[in-house]
Amino acid sequence: MLDQSIQYIKGIGPKRAELLKQELGIETVEDLLYFLPRKYIDRSNTKLIKDCFVNDIVTVTGIVKQVKISGHRRKFLEVVIDDGSDTLSGVFFGGIQYFLKLFEVGDTVLFSGKVDYYTTKQIVHPEYDFIGDSSDALHTGRIVPLYPSTETLKSHGFNSRVFRKIIYNALELAKQHIQEPFDSEMVERLKLMPLSQAIQHIHFPATMDEAHHARLRLAFNELFFLQYYLHLSRHYIRETHKHAKPPINDSLYSDFIQTLPFKLTDDQIKAIQEIINDLQADFPMNRLLQGDVGSGKTIVSMIASLAVISRGQQVAFMAPTEILAQQHYATFKKFLPDSVTVQLLTGSTPAAVRKEILAGLNNGSINIIIGTHALIQEHVQFANLGFIIIDEQHRFGVNQRASLRTKGYMPDLLVMTATPIPRSLSLTLYGDLDISIIKQKPANRIPVTTLAFPSSKLEAVYRSLEKYMNEGRQIYYVLPLIEDSEKLDLKSATATYTQLVKRFPTKTIALLHGKLPNEEKEKIMQQFNNHTIDLLVSTTVIEVGIDVANASIIVIEHVERFGLSQLHQLRGRVGRGEYKSFCVLIYPDDIPQESMQRIHILTTTDDGFVIAEEDLKMRGAGEFIGTRQHGQGIAFEFADPINDFELISIAREEAQKQVERLKDIPALFENIKRTQAMNILEGLRKKHILALLS
Ligand code: ADP
Ligand code: MG
Repeated sequence: MLDQSIQYIKGIGPKRAELLKQELGIETVEDLLYFLPRKYIDRSNTKLIKDCFVNDIVTVTGIVKQVKISGHRRKFLEVVIDDGSDTLSGVFFGGIQYFLKLFEVGDTVLFSGKVDYYTTKQIVHPEYDFIGDSSDALHTGRIVPLYPSTETLKSHGFNSRVFRKIIYNALELAKQHIQEPFDSEMVERLKLMPLSQAIQHIHFPATMDEAHHARLRLAFNELFFLQYYLHLSRHYIRETHKHAKPPINDSLYSDFIQTLPFKLTDDQIKAIQEIINDLQADFPMNRLLQGDVGSGKTIVSMIASLAVISRGQQVAFMAPTEILAQQHYATFKKFLPDSVTVQLLTGSTPAAVRKEILAGLNNGSINIIIGTHALIQEHVQFANLGFIIIDEQHRFGVNQRASLRTKGYMPDLLVMTATPIPRSLSLTLYGDLDISIIKQKPANRIPVTTLAFPSSKLEAVYRSLEKYMNEGRQIYYVLPLIEDSEKLDLKSATATYTQLVKRFPTKTIALLHGKLPNEEKEKIMQQFNNHTIDLLVSTTVIEVGIDVANASIIVIEHVERFGLSQLHQLRGRVGRGEYKSFCVLIYPDDIPQESMQRIHILTTTDDGFVIAEEDLKMRGAGEFIGTRQHGQGIAFEFADPINDFELISIAREEAQKQVERLKDIPALFENIKRTQAMNILEGLRKKHILALLS
């Protein structure tokens, strides 16, 4: 019943069914039942127009008396309604022609929004709804759902009123077929609203509280089944990839730790312990190492590499850019004893060297290979690859990760990220990975001071830049664009470069951006690294990985163009040496309030996790999830990965318990993969399952 086509629902038919499919992907009765209202209007709050005052947020209903285009310079549409007590205008500045056709004199409509006064009482761009025959209980019930629609659907008359009707009819037809996927013990223990009830209440709640609980229940389904799948897949890997690994000789890495010029932080030690445990387990490690820029992840991965080398295996370390790979290579060379052979392989490795490296990997004489995507190429073959490290893992796709893995026999995997993700999100996003977190910064770090100035104060900023350069420090200077653009009124890196060359005639200034050929970028970075360059004007290409201890100031213009987490990452480029460091944020004089708020967060905290959380609150989770591995993210319809944190924990725990009770997970999982039917996950909608498996 639930997977029947919607065309048999009263009020739909083949033509409307086709439209709904094309526009919203709604094909089955179930799809329609899960089509979420975008908003509710609480009609118990309906006021008489005469009782509405300026700035009140109200809902009013009335009969359309007049639909007219008004305004002189700027035209707008005015829809005048009358509820017997007074009149009020709904005012539309955009879509005038559309609304002109939509509203007809005599319609009973509902307007909702903030009351304004301009020659008459009005609501600008109200939420609107058509009530029609007021005896119809669907539309006059105390809480009325409004549904999202598309332009095309709207032009075919699909307004909220129509959605309410067809969804109501679908519910009448199918509600007794909605099955509860959880056993009653669990439903009672967790006080879940039964599924069938939740689906009814999400559309036609008696109270706002009921709507809220219905959403929670549907969110729980999403979260539970995602976690269920993730646990299943984890167990599957552990059971089907069981293998004995050669033993680790602890002395190699523990002696190395003694030689370090600094003391590891407690978090680093803990992460190392977790990694070593995984390296000794009988399943392949699948671990995420999360830590703010400069928290010391690289050293941790180096120590883990030594453990792997001590068991007679090779290590591959993949970084997203050539510059970053080079830097890691330099770091590894600097710290590791000569007995360990480290090589660098990138796209620009000369052919002769490359040939030697390939031979060394093949015969096992190279212990650690550091490189870029070049490592996944076909002819790169290892004698005995046992460990893969991937830096800034979000820059790689799943396939790239996987193809590196096939170069060894069930190698252990450590992925690293400096993009702190709030815990709630990492549980949902990375449920299939074990997570180690480094929160502490090394003790010797001098915190970076972050300052913000309007662009009218630039000259004063320049004067201090001059002073620091005279003292021998270097500077990053970041802009959002490479070149001036006609469309955007923003300063570009190229224009700023020209300007700064004039402003600081005695200093060496260079320009770095993503359009330069790789060798050119490389050369500039080298020059900056060995202090041939004093000031580097750049776009965000310097975002990851550059580590120049003498660079103590980063100036970022047009802060309003960057995300919080991105700014935090950029800031991480300084404060890496012994010098007091500064991050200088330049904003336009007419900056919007909201952007000012973001700047405030940056100037007051240095905790990447706090910043990520704020970023998430401001941007919504969509972007975060969407960026996971090139858009292979999971979009929730009901769950909110930030605010539903409690629910996520519960779902995770319950899913884990259930998966642990299952017998023969490998067979189950194979079956899921093969049939994509996931019968065992009844209750999870097919659409979700397919999204999960793709
Ligand atoms: P991440 O990769 O997490 O951004 P790195 O591993 O590059 O950080 O570390 C940043 C710098 O801090 C490096 O120069 C590294 O040698 C140094 N470092 C790492 N751990 C410590 C520590 N415990 N104490 C002092 N310095 C450290
Ligand atoms: Mg790093």
